[in-house]
Amino acid sequence: MLGFKSIPGFNSGQLIGFSEFTLSIDPEAATRSSSETSFLQDTLDRPNLLVHQRSLAKSLVFNNTTTATSVLLDTFGKTYSLSARREVILAAGVFRTPQLLLASGIGSAATLEKLGVPLRTDLPGVGQNLHDQPFFSVSYRVNVTTNSELTTNQSAAAKAANDYLTRQSGRLSSGWEKLPESYRVNFTKSARTELAQFPSHWPEIEVVPSAAITIPVTDQAQYASIQVAISSTTSVGTVTINTTDLSKNPIKDPKWLSTETDQQVAVQTLKRAREIGQATGVVMGDEYAPGPAVKTDADILAYIKKTMTTFHHAVGTCKMGKAEDSSAVVNTKGLVKGVEKLRIVDASIFPFLPPGHTQGVGVLKIMVDALAEKLAVEILKSKVSAESI
Ligand SMILES: Cc1cc2nc3c(=O)[nH]c(=O)nc-3n(C[C@H](O)[C@H](O)[C@H](O)COP(=O)(O)OP(=O)(O)OC[C@H]3O[C@@H](n4cnc5c(N)ncnc54)[C@H](O)[C@@H]3O)c2cc1C
Repeated sequence: MLGFKSIPGFNSGQLIGFSEFTLSIDPEAATRSSSETSFLQDTLDRPNLLVHQRSLAKSLVFNNTTTATSVLLDTFGKTYSLSARREVILAAGVFRTPQLLLASGIGSAATLEKLGVPLRTDLPGVGQNLHDQPFFSVSYRVNVTTNSELTTNQSAAAKAANDYLTRQSGRLSSGWEKLPESYRVNFTKSARTELAQFPSHWPEIEVVPSAAITIPVTDQAQYASIQVAISSTTSVGTVTINTTDLSKNPIKDPKWLSTETDQQVAVQTLKRAREIGQATGVVMGDEYAPGPAVKTDADILAYIKKTMTTFHHAVGTCKMGKAEDSSAVVNTKGLVKGVEKLRIVDASIFPFLPPGHTQGVGVLKIMVDALAEKLAVEILKSKVSAESI
């Protein structure tokens, strides 16, 4: 429909087309599945595994040189350190891993000097290169029953909760594409050139039809939305710190839609969402949001900037790269440059953001988990070589 071709699922390595959504769901309980439920729970009884729950890593400890030896932890106000026999592995995620590095003296010398944090190694790439996917939508009143009644009709909400708890049913679909030529003609030459740098099988946008509305409504009408995300972005944000206290949040500046190219893609994507919304055949009356008054490209961009959120697929703040790349933080084994025995295994080391969902689906297939499996092999290899010395 509308140029989207049916493809056999999003775990084939192919994204352009439409298919049923891949969800990380336990098929029996129909509840969200996670690394904790899928992997950790199965291994908790191993004698060589000890999990410190509700514990905050506060900083990394090094010996006199640059070898990571332990991690300082806080559990319910008690501070203690855990020593590593072989190496320290960080998996605190795209925002917290750079925070922990910076608080431990690994990062841009200039930033650390300003904060008065003693420099361990000057890695200017820590906290840079933040990529994420902006997410926004157009919404309609529709002539079919949708999930929007769950926010406006108490008995429908109670029934839905009961259905979920007793039957665990549901179905979703979505699609990815490069914007069709009828929209691309509106791009400037420089935007076309920049977008041409993405591989031909990388979609630019994702379309997620939703039987709901993301802005508050109080009436009893039924609402549906065409939610859209920009999958291949050119805006690059940062993460930094203004304190070495890990109980405080790091400072994030995602710089969403800060490039001309992303802005042009966003505007054309919203227009594409409008076309798809109208084609559903269930729309009643005018478009509800942003509404027909939002017409010009400038109006559309202003609306997107005001209402957009993130698709939560941030990556890249401790990027993997070659030794000669001064912005790289880790090598291809996840080992942090400039220090010893410190490895990172999380989405912060993606050098770029592939289209798709960082945990669930993508051109690189189950991306964070694939990365973890690959680096687990490296960790095992280094264990074997350490034991054979
Ligand atoms: C709301 C939301 C919805 C998402 N939905 C989807 C989806 O549907 N499909 C999909 O593919 N992706 C989804 N994602 C993205 C996906 O969850 C992430 O890309 C993925 O979890 C990243 O894995 P990670 O291992 O890098 O980090 P995380 O999964 O974030 O793991 C980092 C862990 O480190 C812990 N931690 C952080 N700092 C410290 C510290 N100082 N001390 C101790 N522990 C610490 C955190 O508590 C966390 O458990 C979603 C993300 C969010 C936020």
